[in-house]
Amino acid sequence: MRPGELIGRWPLLRQVREGDAFGLGRAVQSTRTQELRPRTDAAQHVVQSICPYCAVGCGQLVYVRDGKVDQIEGDPDSPISRGRLCPKGAASKNLVTSPSREYKVKYRPPNGTEWEELELGQAMEMIADRVIETRKATWQKQGDSGAPTERTMGIAMLGGATLDNEENYLIKKLAMGLGVVQVENQARI
Ligand code: SF4
Repeated sequence: MRPGELIGRWPLLRQVREGDAFGLGRAVQSTRTQELRPRTDAAQHVVQSICPYCAVGCGQLVYVRDGKVDQIEGDPDSPISRGRLCPKGAASKNLVTSPSREYKVKYRPPNGTEWEELELGQAMEMIADRVIETRKATWQKQGDSGAPTERTMGIAMLGGATLDNEENYLIKKLAMGLGVVQVENQARI
């Protein structure tokens, strides 16, 4: 570096030249600091979303680059979370982009020791068959007290914390329609 350039970088000179008399701003920033850019800078567009991890429903901004999720940050416009995310929400980019993310249905048959992969259509058929069989086999027209009822105690539904309000609403409606009364959500555990 030339001597003139070196002297020009002297903090006192920079404070005077850059109008930062108390050395609280740009005059005390290193070149590296000045060159730092937000990690969302390269994004081409941003989409508002909701963190799927729990029932709080914090607002998220999903930054997209080349059609892929580039970063996920808290949404300052969310009245719920006002820009904040807990460690789970802040790490939710991994939920989408992790190489260990599963894209196939995993099935372990009775007495099986290994997971098998199923096509979604086949898994849905298997679930539907079992629901129909179990309803038939366990349908009750009378409760324990003898009062009339129409239900099955042979099926239970357990929701996950990543379900949102609308999904939970539909699951509950489906369960009630099937006569399934044992409905719980893992988010409450
Ligand atoms: S997991 Fe954390 S960031 Fe996500 S909704 Fe719940 S509290 Fe908010």
